[in-house]
Order: sequence, then structure tokens, then C-alpha cells
Amino acid sequence: MNVLLSYVSGRWQIGSGEAKTLHDPSTEAVLGQVHTGGVDLAAALQHARGKGLAALGATSYLERGEMLKSLSKILHERRDELIAISTQNGGNTRGDAKFDLDGMTGTLAFYGNLAGSLPTSGAFLDGDGLQLGRTPRFWGQHVLSARPGVALHINAFNFPAWGMGEKMACALLAGVPVIEKPGTPSAMLAHRIAQIVVESAVLPEGSFQLVVGSIAPMLDLLTAMDAVAFTGSSVTGALIRGNRNLVARNVRCNIEADSINAAVLGVDVDLGGDTFAQFVANVATDITQKAGQKCTAVRRILVPMDLLGDVAEALVERIRAVKVGNPADEENRMGPVASAEALGTVRTGMQHLLAVTEVLCGGPSPMTERGYFVAPTLLRARDAGAEVLHALEVFGPCATLLPYDGTAASAAMLANRGGGGLVASLYSDDRDFLDEAVQTMAPWHGRLWIGSEKTQGQALGPGAVLPGTIHGGPGRAGGGEELGALRGLQLYMQRTAVQGDRALLGKVLGDSSTPTS
Ligand code: NAP
Repeated sequence: MNVLLSYVSGRWQIGSGEAKTLHDPSTEAVLGQVHTGGVDLAAALQHARGKGLAALGATSYLERGEMLKSLSKILHERRDELIAISTQNGGNTRGDAKFDLDGMTGTLAFYGNLAGSLPTSGAFLDGDGLQLGRTPRFWGQHVLSARPGVALHINAFNFPAWGMGEKMACALLAGVPVIEKPGTPSAMLAHRIAQIVVESAVLPEGSFQLVVGSIAPMLDLLTAMDAVAFTGSSVTGALIRGNRNLVARNVRCNIEADSINAAVLGVDVDLGGDTFAQFVANVATDITQKAGQKCTAVRRILVPMDLLGDVAEALVERIRAVKVGNPADEENRMGPVASAEALGTVRTGMQHLLAVTEVLCGGPSPMTERGYFVAPTLLRARDAGAEVLHALEVFGPCATLLPYDGTAASAAMLANRGGGGLVASLYSDDRDFLDEAVQTMAPWHGRLWIGSEKTQGQALGPGAVLPGTIHGGPGRAGGGEELGALRGLQLYMQRTAVQGDRALLGKVLGDSSTPTS
């Protein structure tokens, strides 16, 4: 039996307590085990606060950037081995696995390169200084400094590589040691990545630790300078945010939760044009890529009433062409969902949606006797206002067509009913429509992605999270914010307003080259 170990306090350690079994979601074959307890979490924190912090503190941004670039390269060289694990334990097709793995290595390299824009001496200035007194002599300047704490990263099962990579890139570049906790069902990939990271010896001892199994008790041990970055469901996110110790000590907590993402088709869109082609391609990709297990995947497709029939036809044709099966066979373009539990939740969720929708293709019926397969499913709302459509995330290959009256106000009203989203996509070339939609939807969304005739072939779709712009969203989506180039470091840094004589501040803060964006 392959029992996954935790890397804590400088050595690989076996856990104890209840064992959870890891499966190949295509065949249900048992692959390994994770023990949920038995790791000395207090010692792990002490190791990070002692060894990790001191070692990282002795390095410059540039040196830490070099570490991230080296890790990116080393992990990229192991891509094929990692793809195989992602397929076996995550049910990912080769394309899905690359999406996760290249997302990880790309983000590590991005932050590695960003180090070159950070100060080599003096303080890390945050914006320009400003006059605070009667004359310019009394001056104020915001500065950022790494907080002497630990970054606890709790990741969801669907992106074991990217989720870990994007979080550790930001914390390590800031100079803060990390403790990584992967989602259990797909933990084998994060575990292998951790082995490669440790074997590489690129990172100083104490700056990187991995805990498989339960991390919940560590929340009670965190103190004021620590930070938690969580990705997962809004239910778990709320539990973490409400942890009494985190609340009492004001431990920073960034929550990336779920989101009922919307795609909006403008009434101006020509069904034979490039804007429509992007809409169809992106929506179909979101339903089928990673079997719909993306936090950014579209769940509600808002379509002007008159176009509903044409859109349904185009999407059904596209989705039905996707071959579903064991991703070990490269002919299959969509694999299973990640676990038996996920399958149960997806099927139950679809049943709830069926109370207010009709099935255009797919549905919750079992596809195979073995494996956690669900058919890519397109539903059509009988009532676009039904609460369940705006409140229930079915975390699988499923989305619903919702008719609207073609006005930006009506589209925004429906999209915003998700209660706060990670991303919404708008497909239109009508500037007035877009202007109104962007203004009314922006406060409710972390990202708005606009597809128009000019964007065909130019960019990845709205489901892709890019390190240069932020990821996260208000309300339901967790209220958090990650990435966004240098903004991503701020969770791990303290902003301080330094006030005093301008000439003296210049000497104290030194000659920093770059303010934050
Ligand atoms: P989940 O059940 O909420 O678990 C997320 C992580 O939290 C896992 O590592 C889990 O560990 C851990 N966890 C569970 N209970 C905990 C507790 N009481 N204290 C501390 N940690 C705890 O979510 P999931 O099923 O892994 O992921 C799917 C969900 O994540 C979807 O809803 C999706 O929308 C969301 N998601 C959001 C984003 C985003 O960026 N906003 C990205 C990806 C996914 P175990 O696995 O060991 O239980």
C-alpha cells in the first residue's frame, strides 16, 4: 500500500489515525492511503518559524526569485511523470493535467521573474510618498515588509499542482515559509511534487513543508503574523474564517471559495461571427475541461430569449462530440469526477437543478458500472429566476441555459444573483451594452472577461487564471484575492505608513527602485 507521508520538521513522517483511501477515479482501483492525523503540527510551525523564516530572511528577493525559477524548471522537466499521476489519481486527461501542471510551473516562473522588479536595497515602497505637514518637510511613505510568520496553504482537490504552486510562489517571494495541505482525494500529485521540491534542495530547510491528512488543529495554533490562504468550498471557507483563534488573534485569512459563474451572450452577436464562435467554444470547454471541476467554470449561461434555440443546438452539438472515458486512453477528451463522494454530490446537485430545468443533453444517470463518470450536461431553465440556479454550485460537467431579455440591466441582475463571483464572461461587440454590463457587474465579480470579434485566437478563455491579474471574488466567492502580480505578495506583508522628516525618511528607507503596482 502506498501510504503518503507528510514532510514536516525536516523529515518525511507517517501519520496515524483514520486512514482515507485514494482511488483511480476511472477504475476505482485503490492507489494509496492518507492518515488523517498523527503529525506534530506544533513542531511543524516551530520549524517554519525557526529555521524557515531565518533562512528566507537571509536571502534577497532576487535570490528567492531564482529559487522559484529553478523549481519551475525542475518540475517542468518531470512533467510527463506528473501528468501520469494526475491522470491516475485525478482522472485528468493529458490536456487537463497540463492545465494544472503548466499553471503551476508558469506561475512559479512568473513570480521568479517578477523578483527582478523588486528593490535590491532599501525598503519596498508602496506607492508614492506624500506631504503630511504644513510644508513638504513632514512626509509620509507607505512601505511593505515581510511578516515574520508562517503561510498555511489549504488547497482544493481539483488543482493539486497549480493551487499549491501559485500560493507558494507569492509567500516564498515575500520571504515567508509555507506549509502546504493538499485536498485529500487527489493528494498523490501534490505529494510527488513535494518530494521533487524537497529532493531538489532548492528551498532552504524549514521554508517548505507538506501535511497530508487533516490540518484543522493547526488553525488553533496560528498567531498574529501568520496567514491562511484557503481554497475550497464556501462551507469549509466559512468554517475556517470563523475559527475562534483566527478571529481572536486577527490572523490574516484569504478565502477562495466557490462561485456560480455566468457567461452572458449579447443580443448583438452574429451567430456566424467570431464572437459567437468564442462563446460556444469557451462554454463547451468550461463544461468539459477537468470534468467541469474548475472554480471558474461557467454554471449559468445567459442568452437572449430569441437566440436560445440556436445556442442550445450549437452547444449540444459541441458537447455531444466530447468523448468521455478513462483518460489513460488519449482518445477520451473528458475523464471522471475525482471521487465517489464528488460523483454523489454532482448527481444530487443535478437532481436539484432538474426541479426547475429540462435536460438538453447528459443528465445525472450513471454512465458506467465502474468509475466516477458523469455525462457532460446542458440544462435549460424553465424559470431563469429560480433560486437554486443562482445558489447551488454543481461542481461537475454541468451548466444551465437561462433566457434573459437582451438588456444589460437584466443580464447583470441575473449574473449578480450569484451573490459574488470569481469570473463572469461577456460576449458582445456593442459598446453601450458592455459599458452598462461592466459597470453593474464589476462590484460583484473579481474578474470580467470580454469576448469580442477582436479577441478571437488572442487569449485563453475565462476559465484560465493568469498570475498577472487577480483571482478571487466578493461574497459567495470567498471575498478573497490572490495573484495580480505584486498584489499577490501583500497577504504575507505588512503595510506600514512611515511618517517624519522627508530627508530623514529618504535615508532610513533607502533607495528603493520600485513601488508596488
Ligand atoms: P473542500 O471540501 O472545502 O476542501 C478544501 C480543503 O479544505 C481541503 O484541503 C480539505 O481537506 C480542507 N478542509 C476540509 N475541512 C477542513 C477544516 N475543517 N479545516 C481546515 N481544512 C479543511 O473543497 P474541495 O472539495 O477540496 O474543493 C472543491 C471546492 O473548491 C469547489 O466548491 C470549488 O468551487 C472550490 N474551489 C475554489 C477555487 C477558488 O480559487 N476560488 C479553486 C478551486 C476550487 P480534505 O480534502 O482532507 O478534506
